[in-house]
Amino acid sequence: MRKPWQFEEPLCRDIPGAPEIFIDETSENKPLAKAICARCAHQVECAEYGIKVEVMGVWGGLTTRERSDIAKRHKVQREPLLIMPAVYKRPQRKQVDDE
Ligand code: SF4
Repeated sequence: MRKPWQFEEPLCRDIPGAPEIFIDETSENKPLAKAICARCAHQVECAEYGIKVEVMGVWGGLTTRERSDIAKRHKVQREPLLIMPAVYKRPQRKQVDDE
């Protein structure tokens, strides 16, 4: 199973604000991430990977909750990543005193 960072030209690679908009599932980020994934040539493969491996973020247009529900419904044996690869950056929280 290929990992999304091994895909040829995934749409999320050069999106301003990525990977935060895919990882930080806010009400603003989710629809944007889903819309980008819907136009990506790798959506199905990415969703399959996400259902099997990823425990946070939008992968293949599916949220954490949606992938978890699919995995339960189809009794998918999940193999979650226990260590975050360096390619992921944690979203930065806006400092209150910045405002
Ligand atoms: S489906 Fe979405 S998360 Fe997966 S590679 Fe494409 S744009 Fe990135």
